[in-house]
Amino acid sequence: MKDNIVILSYNLKQLSYLNMNIFDNNKIFKLIAEVSDENNFETYVIGGYVRDIFLERKSKDIDILTIGNGIDLAKKVADKLGLKKVAVFKNFGTAQLKYKDLEIEFVGARKESYRKNSRKPMVENGTLEDDQNRRDFTINALAIGLNKENAGQLVDPFKGEEDIKSKIIRTPSDPLVTFSDDPLRMLRAIRFASQLKFKIEGSTFKGICEMKERISIISQERITDELNKILLSEKPSTGFKLLDKAGLLELIFPQLTLLKGVETKEGIWHKDNFIHTLKVVDNIAKTTDNLWLRWAALLHDIAKPATKKFIKNQGWTFHGHEFFGAKMIPAIFKSLKLPLNEKMKYVQKMVLLHLRPIVLAEEIVTDSAIRRLLFDAGNEIDDLMKLCDADITSKNPEKVKKYLTNFQIVRQKLKEVEEKDAIRNWQPPISGDIILQTFNIKPGKEVGIIKNAIREAILDGLINNNYEEAFNFMLNKGSELGLQPKR
Ligand code: ATP
Repeated sequence: MKDNIVILSYNLKQLSYLNMNIFDNNKIFKLIAEVSDENNFETYVIGGYVRDIFLERKSKDIDILTIGNGIDLAKKVADKLGLKKVAVFKNFGTAQLKYKDLEIEFVGARKESYRKNSRKPMVENGTLEDDQNRRDFTINALAIGLNKENAGQLVDPFKGEEDIKSKIIRTPSDPLVTFSDDPLRMLRAIRFASQLKFKIEGSTFKGICEMKERISIISQERITDELNKILLSEKPSTGFKLLDKAGLLELIFPQLTLLKGVETKEGIWHKDNFIHTLKVVDNIAKTTDNLWLRWAALLHDIAKPATKKFIKNQGWTFHGHEFFGAKMIPAIFKSLKLPLNEKMKYVQKMVLLHLRPIVLAEEIVTDSAIRRLLFDAGNEIDDLMKLCDADITSKNPEKVKKYLTNFQIVRQKLKEVEEKDAIRNWQPPISGDIILQTFNIKPGKEVGIIKNAIREAILDGLINNNYEEAFNFMLNKGSELGLQPKR
């Protein structure tokens, strides 16, 4: 079996421009090959993992195809590895093993045929060729043999290797049929273009444009999955522009397309907020992999169309778009089936606060304004500043420089005030319990009034953020409300 691995490496090394050791995962392939030969399974590595070898992308998902029963092969491999757990999906005829940080999926080769109203095909057992025919793109249809007699040999019926070299996404068969059968493939094509920086071949893209309405049979979860992947790509604007160009964006994310367009009145125009938003998303993608900060960038101006006004002698305004935008987030998250939890609240907070740091760059700004921002943003202050930097999209380099410098000034002020007052993770120095005990009162509205007053006094700088000053302030406030401390 040792020979096998040598052949595998050797043959793959011959694949022209490959210079990376694809057998980073050598051991596991060797073992699968061994088990296959011992038990007469004809076995291949197939799909995304093979594509990623050529792209020199590290992948942790391995798809193993066998001509026969994938579940049986998975169980035999698991035995050999001493793994107790095999996740079997009988309905799909697949089984999955987790080995170290790898997820290995085993499947029997199959042939698929589709009905009009579902992306779930009718499935029957098939050959390697049948299985490659059912794959979405030429670059995803590559297979490498694992058995002794064909170890390391590439089976590439649709010239996928060439397409990888030329960075092209193309369906192996008629694009109209491919996309009509499973319309999710339209989003996958665009997502791969964005992720891999590939071009979608002409007739393939035309097929997407023609079949776009078919997206209606795809579940929201699958659509949002692809949107997330586009957002996480290096330059997400590529994906969103393609979605827009194909006419899909309007169908799956209409709020974004409303940002499009420029209007001019009395010789005054406003920028195209769609282009601006995509630039902000590209900018933020350079500084963070946090999916939710990227969502915040995508949605930061989402209420601009709803708040747009032309005011004589003043021009275009989008007054309050940050408040309306924050209010729109729950409905957008719900319709996209994004999580309605603290991630959503985080995005809301970013949208709501995204204009606040701008005014803080002015010289006359008070410590109180800085404290209030620290209080409102809390631990998210650094992310908010990242969003502000990303929001600068002027084409004038002088302006960009000036704004970036302004935000550096804001950062400095935030740092100084935070060092002095420790507001960022503010916990009230006087708890509700202390108020109740001090005045010997029952829970009621007075406690809330006193707590708020203490917080405001600290944020306004009337008292410092410590127990003693807050306690004295509480006594005074209590007396204003007719409360006396108990003796
Ligand atoms: P990623 O892991 O980034 O999503 P991938 O290509 O590995 O990329 P998977 O969803 O893991 O994607 O799919 C593995 C393989 O299964 C693909 O490479 C492709 O050959 C095939 N495949 C996946 N989805 C489809 C589909 N909708 N239609 C046809 N083939 C598909």
